[in-house]
Amino acid sequence: MKVAVLRERDFGESRVAATPETVGKLIALGADVAVESGAGALSRFPDDQYAAAGAAVVPSAAEALRDADILLCVRRPSVAALTGIRPGALVIGTLDPYGHEADIAALAQAGVTAVAMEFMPRITRAQVMDILSSQANLAGYQAVIEAAAVFERAMPMMMTAAGTVRPAKAFVMGAGVAGLQAIATAKRLGAVVSATDVRAAAGEQVESLGAKFIMTDALKDASGTGGYARELTPDEQAAQAELVAGHIAKQDMVITTALIPGRPAPKLVTRAMVESMAPGSVIVDLAGERGGNVELTVPDQVITHQGVSIIGYTNLAGRIPTTASQLYARNLLSFLDTLIDKKARTLAIDWEDELLKATVLTRDGAVVHPNLAAAAA
Ligand code: NAD
Repeated sequence: MKVAVLRERDFGESRVAATPETVGKLIALGADVAVESGAGALSRFPDDQYAAAGAAVVPSAAEALRDADILLCVRRPSVAALTGIRPGALVIGTLDPYGHEADIAALAQAGVTAVAMEFMPRITRAQVMDILSSQANLAGYQAVIEAAAVFERAMPMMMTAAGTVRPAKAFVMGAGVAGLQAIATAKRLGAVVSATDVRAAAGEQVESLGAKFIMTDALKDASGTGGYARELTPDEQAAQAELVAGHIAKQDMVITTALIPGRPAPKLVTRAMVESMAPGSVIVDLAGERGGNVELTVPDQVITHQGVSIIGYTNLAGRIPTTASQLYARNLLSFLDTLIDKKARTLAIDWEDELLKATVLTRDGAVVHPNLAAAAA
């Protein structure tokens, strides 16, 4: 059982799919691990740490992939980058299939079994494998750190001999995994924090972190299935916009994290709302990859509009790559652990397991995932 780990090819991707810690554990489970030289460099895991953990550090991707049964990755690799991989090998990572159906079909044609970790069901057993949560949690933290770095004032209240500094006001829109961590981080830095969400259940969680929950009676509970939100009706959208418009004008920092599964990100902050904020205020839009919650967001850029900074980084977890890689690699290790027969120290995959059924996109030359197979046919 050979596991390969490559240097990520996507521009700006600084994470790595296995760390020296997880490599050591994979070897203990019976794997041979080949790591492309430099794979962990941007996450501060040098080659010698992988070698000390027992990996073979090899000079090229092709050498790492030769006869590999499994490739661990952060981003979806191109087919060209898989040259030499064994037919039937597992490619496990964040495969981002929606909107990239042709790339998934190409992986099928290349004969690999592509496993999308972001499709992992959110059940108790799979919590340790939940890359969406581990990375969203860090993105929520990092959003506040980025905002604080751009904000030209102190965040906490300070009572000094030179006078009192008032605390910053932070508003978090969307109180899921990322939003709750943003609330907690802004609180730790001393801000006065408020938050909103369209799921009524989020209110209790927001308040348990010491933040004020902003909600209006006109906005009914918009919980959808699986703990996610549903899209708002036009009337509900108007009620939310009215509520937000009044509140946002008084904020120093706004962190937006609102998402609806399978839909573009809801537009929550209009140009007029941005213009109502005081110069020097900061907005961080975590939904940039899905179109953004803020009308003016430019993905992967920091822009200033009438003195308000709008941060649109799409890979915030990647901006703290060491921690992000540590958690991501542990998510992958926990999944691999379920695929290995501990006594025989070989792969023993139960294709009927609900984790595999939910995450396998391609197998035996075909796109097999129900959400994608129709598009491929
Ligand atoms: P997400 O990333 O899909 O969305 C982020 C937040 O945006 C959600 O809280 C959503 O309600 C909110 N939102 C959507 N539209 C909005 C709007 N118009 N205005 C304001 N907010 C809006 O969500 P997530 O962070 O992945 O979490 C979704 C749910 O899943 C939560 O209930 C969370 O507790 C739950 N969860 C469960 C598990 C598990 O069981 N293993 C793991 C992680 C999360």
